[in-house]
Amino acid sequence: MSGESGVVGIVPIGEVKQVVLKILAANIQAVFNIPVDILNGRKSLKKFFNPNRNQYNAITILDHMERRWKQPHKRILAVVSVDLFIPILTYVFGEAQINGKMAVVSTYRLNRRTGGGNVSLERFYERVAKVGIHELAHTFGLVHCKENHCVMRASYSLRDLDYYPLYFCDYCQSMLDDVYRRMKLRTLKARSFEDLF
Ligand SMILES: [Zn+2]
Ligand SMILES: [Zn+2]
Repeated sequence: MSGESGVVGIVPIGEVKQVVLKILAANIQAVFNIPVDILNGRKSLKKFFNPNRNQYNAITILDHMERRWKQPHKRILAVVSVDLFIPILTYVFGEAQINGKMAVVSTYRLNRRTGGGNVSLERFYERVAKVGIHELAHTFGLVHCKENHCVMRASYSLRDLDYYPLYFCDYCQSMLDDVYRRMKLRTLKARSFEDLF
């Protein structure tokens, strides 16, 4: 990694495989065109567990991270491998503070095939990247998009998630570029992955 810190920090909470973090970081760096760092996270998720639902509260995770975080990164994406919920929904693949700093993605449901069994690793990684990119984009103020070919399309199922692509439509891309200009963000000149590996 370079001396200067990245714009986005990826933080595992609990057990998350390193390869998942690296693939997520590489995809975010490529699609957002901003530098990404993989950071050390916390080991325990106990604090966020809801015994009535047997799931972990995504909102509590975001609130906790926001209160505790002191890193120089402008945005933090937490990664967990447990099942997340928000009070109004049965489960979520991820959650974000719109125009905030924190987002979270859960890998828990992303390896499942509709009708049972698991999808290929390739499909699993693609889903993790899509959810991560989608949630992170919410923190830059992007909202849901009606365009079919856009990663900001709302998804409520794995079928939805598999349907939309890994990239932004022209409209969402220009919104994002506008946010970058306002934030005076350091974007990558050439798309390079070498800092990550
Ligand atoms: Zn969304
Ligand atoms: Zn869009």
